Amino acid sequence: MNLLQDIVYLKGVGPARAKVLNEEFGVYTWRDLLFHYPFRYIDKSQITSVSQIKTEHEPVQLLLECVSWQELGVGRAKRLAARFRDASGDIELVWFKGAQYIVKSLQIGQHYLVYGKPTLFSGKYNIAHPELEWVEKSRMMSGSSMKPVYRSTEKAAKKGLNSNGIAQLTRQMIAEMPANVIPENLPVSILTKYKLMDRDKAIRELHFPTDAKTLEWAVRRLKFEELFYLQIKVAAQKLALTKDERGVVFEKVGHYFHTFYEEHLPFELTGAQKRVLKEIRQDVGKGFHMNRLIQGDVGSGKTIVAILSMLLAVDNGFQSCLMAPTEILTLQHYKAMCELLEPLNLKVELLTGSTRAAERRRIHAGLLDGSISMLVGTHALIEPVVQFNNLGLVIIDEQHRFGVAQRARLWEKAKIPPHILVMTATPIPRTLAMTVYGDLDVSVIDELPPGRKPIQTVWRTDARRLEIDGFLEKEIKKGRQVYIVYPLIDESEALDFKNLMEGYESVVRRFPRPQYQISIVHGRAKAEDRDFEMNLFLKGNTHIMVATTVIEVGVNVPNASVMVIESAERFGLSQLHQLRGRVGRGADQSYCILVTGDKLSQESKLRMETMCQTNDGFEIAEVDLQLRGPGDISGTQQSGVLQLKIADIVKDQSILLAARESAMELVETDPSFGQLDNFCIKKQLDENNTLQSNWSKIS
Ligand code: ADP
Ligand code: MG
Repeated sequence: MNLLQDIVYLKGVGPARAKVLNEEFGVYTWRDLLFHYPFRYIDKSQITSVSQIKTEHEPVQLLLECVSWQELGVGRAKRLAARFRDASGDIELVWFKGAQYIVKSLQIGQHYLVYGKPTLFSGKYNIAHPELEWVEKSRMMSGSSMKPVYRSTEKAAKKGLNSNGIAQLTRQMIAEMPANVIPENLPVSILTKYKLMDRDKAIRELHFPTDAKTLEWAVRRLKFEELFYLQIKVAAQKLALTKDERGVVFEKVGHYFHTFYEEHLPFELTGAQKRVLKEIRQDVGKGFHMNRLIQGDVGSGKTIVAILSMLLAVDNGFQSCLMAPTEILTLQHYKAMCELLEPLNLKVELLTGSTRAAERRRIHAGLLDGSISMLVGTHALIEPVVQFNNLGLVIIDEQHRFGVAQRARLWEKAKIPPHILVMTATPIPRTLAMTVYGDLDVSVIDELPPGRKPIQTVWRTDARRLEIDGFLEKEIKKGRQVYIVYPLIDESEALDFKNLMEGYESVVRRFPRPQYQISIVHGRAKAEDRDFEMNLFLKGNTHIMVATTVIEVGVNVPNASVMVIESAERFGLSQLHQLRGRVGRGADQSYCILVTGDKLSQESKLRMETMCQTNDGFEIAEVDLQLRGPGDISGTQQSGVLQLKIADIVKDQSILLAARESAMELVETDPSFGQLDNFCIKKQLDENNTLQSNWSKIS
């Protein structure tokens, strides 16, 4: 029995269906079909009645009879509305798309199993786009109560491969498979320790559950397996990085670091900054290759840590560079460094997309001959023409804007890989960090510089505009400055741009010249104009800065004490938090005002409430993760976390921890998987390797 045989040879498939299976689901072999897992189950014993529906957005399963339907509206408002009922009452089901297709499957008086999330509309519940399955009521209660549901597509359904069709094929295939044909890929020691079901049984169970309880065990085993292999990968990478890749050694703390630290540091470092610096020094002093992530909330003072690390490189005769995602931010770093390092007589160079050709040539030459020791730049830095003499340290600020591939190119700029320090202000929850960045060591700056007052955040609806304006007036009278931010999610969105301009005009009407001076900054403006306006605001010549999210990673204006975020419901949590971080940089009490419409979804409400409750970036990141799933968190795209078939990083944390622990332990004790019991891991990895690309060198 060969599971790798072509799916076309499965009874009931044939060339036409094989083609659909290839194209729609990437299923080419029997094995692929086996791994086309159901995405949920219909538990026929769990049926709600219409009158029992009490909450919105929680999925329910109903057994309903079709009463009537009609197509309503025209154009974009066109929809299909159908009335269904059970003994307890009736409910409307609506479809805004695919009406023709649905209508064909409706029959008055027929019973359907209906699955979906109710929403409340004018005091009654309805369900939009439910899943619908024709059932024979009398046969409903026979057999196993758990029925698998497979993902399908319209194209596949046309060839009879809807969920039921796929279930039938899979049943057919499994019936032909001799017992234990699916090889075990977890060592017996682990199976025993965590009481895991064996693999052959678990996969069969997944497709054809005996009952809810056994299914749960099967699912647990397969989740464990998936997370275990993810962690094995991470553990192996980490081991490879620390064992094989030798790093350059910064053995001494020398003149520059000392002089700066003792004589020119403008403030005392916080405990957290000192701790992180110590961790960095331990890494770079040992001859290991540093791959470290610094997580620190906005304003926690990551820059100074970066600068001190660069001085360490200089002291040891190595070049270093600091890379930032935008020109504004790069310039800000450059200026700060020039100022701070001036007394040391150390020259820093700046390289961005707008550096003139002659200047660029001079810098290229200086980097190559080693006369330039410190460089700040945008991604212009990673172009192949930029070559170094002896690059020893690369610092990447706000890493989420740099792709893994871009970072990998930095790696090629030195014979011995330079130490890598990645700094991010987007905190990643611990469980996710250890999976996504499992091969990076993580340092956390979890303390703000002293004297900062926590920002007070309030949530107001449009209706309270006058009150908000009154507050802004008062703050401006006190000599403070104000940001008003409009969502411009996509700079090319004409509608967003119109909103911004209307917003600006309304601000100008409410705060008239000459009493009030207003700046405006957005992504469409020329860089010079933007800098000009920014500078006016920075110098205190304007009172209000109307802006888009370009200021998210922009200038530091300690005198700005109020951040107003318009249409706040349109921003994600981490973005709101980043924006809020623009104020609260001076000694004064700062405020953040979230302005929204008065009709908000549950989720938007939760976002606003979270912002009002906490200033802690990590807490906010946790909520963000619960709300959006790991897909939107930085770094996850590259990590494979998204490709998980069955496990869920957020919901399966306890399984994740167990899988991680056993994977780490195994890689430490038997790194080549040479022990007999561990040989199955090696086999599985070889199999996976044929599928995987090597993104892992640097992260
Ligand atoms: P971020 O971590 O967001 O990059 P910055 O490095 O820009 O933060 O620091 C924010 C502000 O705090 C800067 O003005 C910086 O000079 C100041 N700062 C940093 N560390 C300290 C400290 N230990 N004490 C006082 N101020 C500090
Ligand atoms: Mg910063």
